[in-house]
Amino acid sequence: MSKVILVANWKMNPPSFREAKRLFDAERKSAEKVKNVSVILAPPALFLRELSAGYRGAKIGFAVQGAHYEPSGAHTGEISLPQAKDARAKYVIMGHAERRARGETDDHIRKEIAAALSLKMTPIVCVGESVRGEGGEHFDVVREQLRMALADVAPSALSRMLIVYEPLWTIGASSTMQPRDMHQMAIFMRKCAVDSHGEQGRNLKILYGGSIDETNVRAMHEEGDVLGFLVGRASLDASEFEKLLHAIAYSA
Ligand code: PEP
Repeated sequence: MSKVILVANWKMNPPSFREAKRLFDAERKSAEKVKNVSVILAPPALFLRELSAGYRGAKIGFAVQGAHYEPSGAHTGEISLPQAKDARAKYVIMGHAERRARGETDDHIRKEIAAALSLKMTPIVCVGESVRGEGGEHFDVVREQLRMALADVAPSALSRMLIVYEPLWTIGASSTMQPRDMHQMAIFMRKCAVDSHGEQGRNLKILYGGSIDETNVRAMHEEGDVLGFLVGRASLDASEFEKLLHAIAYSA
């Protein structure tokens, strides 16, 4: 059975490198105790090089939380993918709802995916609607985000990406979505990928993100039709993270 993928998105936390190192050491120890989970850690970019430089294991991969698609240039405040790779990031999160809200466009994401794949980095692409009504419009939103994101991706490259279904209304919320709704969305996303990329679309690697914790991860893993999770809050507290890892490790 393949390992469950757990992306830990620290966002703009914690405030100092000292605290980041302490959190990393605790989470590394917890991760090393569970066999069937692979952790991808996305710390603030400023902490990435120092955390990754001191780590020799294979259990944790490193990610940046976003990057510019240009390799260099006049882009004040941005980081580039070659810089991220040089700091030992193998993964890059893109299209997170918080970055889309600040202006990251589908076009930026499409270019970022191409740049990441050309550097042999793994894009972790977030898609998801902002609000969910009764009329099923969320399917149209996700279809369009996927269409734009995958426009330049060769069918054979689909398996080199992770797609996170992460509706904005479940991020930082008090409860998560129902696993059966995630299952339905996973079927829909694969169908979109098959329509655009042929049979290889069936291999789309789908994760879920949004208010996952130790209490709900097991049901989502067993019934949600996903290969793993992207978590925010549950990755900021070492003991919550340990409980989450255990809950995943003992699910089917
Ligand atoms: C996120 O930041 O993408 C996220 C899923 O956060 P949380 O787990 O806190 O809802």
